[in-house]
Parts: sequence; C-alpha cells; structure tokens
Amino acid sequence: MAQLDILEFPDPRLRKIAQPVAAVGDDERALAESMIETMYAARGIGLASTQVNDSRRVFVMDVSDAHDAPLVFFNPEILTRSGEQVCEEGCLSIPGITAEVRRADVVKVRALNLEGVSFEMEVDGLAAVCIQHEIDHLDGKVFFDRLSPLKKRMLQKKYQKQRQGASVSG
Ligand code: ZN
Repeated sequence: MAQLDILEFPDPRLRKIAQPVAAVGDDERALAESMIETMYAARGIGLASTQVNDSRRVFVMDVSDAHDAPLVFFNPEILTRSGEQVCEEGCLSIPGITAEVRRADVVKVRALNLEGVSFEMEVDGLAAVCIQHEIDHLDGKVFFDRLSPLKKRMLQKKYQKQRQGASVSG
C-alpha cells in the first residue's frame, strides 16, 4: 500500500471518464487499498480513482463514525434513485470550498467488492450523497458542475483566489 497524490481542480485529468475493470485482481485490490489509505490520510469520507489519476473505475468510501468500515465499489452503477436532499459537500480535489448540492436522497447501487463479488446496497443520507459524488468523479464531473452557473462562477473565483494566496505564502 502507498499513499497516492490527489489531483486538484482544475486539473484536466479530473475530466477523464474512468473505464470498468474486466476483473478484480491483485493489482486492482492494491489500488483500492492505497486509495483507502489515501482517503484516511486526507480525512475524507470518499475517494474516486479519477482523483488519484487512475482510470480504473473504482471508488472507496467510509461514512462510519469510527472510520473503521471502508467499502470498495468497482464498476459501480446506480440502479434506482429517489427523493431529494440538499447537503453541504466538500471535495478532496477542491480543498477549502464547500457548497450545498441537491441530489437524490436514496440510491440503490450495484458494484463489485474487493473480492470481485457483485453486491447491491440501498442507502440514504450521507452515504447516498457520497456515492453520487464519487460516481460523478468517475464520470469526469466535480460538484461545481451540479451548481447554478452563477454559484459555480462565484465559488470558482473564491477557489482561485485562495489558491493564489496559497502559492504566495508558499
Ligand atoms: Zn470529490
């Protein structure tokens, strides 16, 4: 296992669309385990392969209070979505910025686990937000893309300003 570098917006590589894996083998398991380690080190609750510049379609998530229950989703697909919720979201690829994003309240997802076995899971609340956020990454999207054009421009400006400030101060 190794910690991976997380790409930061507006890196164009965040726009790449991740491709399904043919099977979950040792290489894929090693990637997922490194992603889990990277997610914990960055204090995130989810991380998609796109964010660590890998095009294999997988994300990891841990929304447990104790951060001791990581889940791995290879080739995730949302089967059903229902309801609506608005949640304040952040992103490890857009540090320092959060925004209210509207998403489905309940999603049913199908994926392959670390052993390559297919499973289905229906979740609501934070887990549902996280799954939709991470699948967006696998499709080359970030949460900015879910905002109104005005809000998006405003937050991108704020983000750029903050990044310039960071480079000036080292
Ligand atoms: Zn993100």
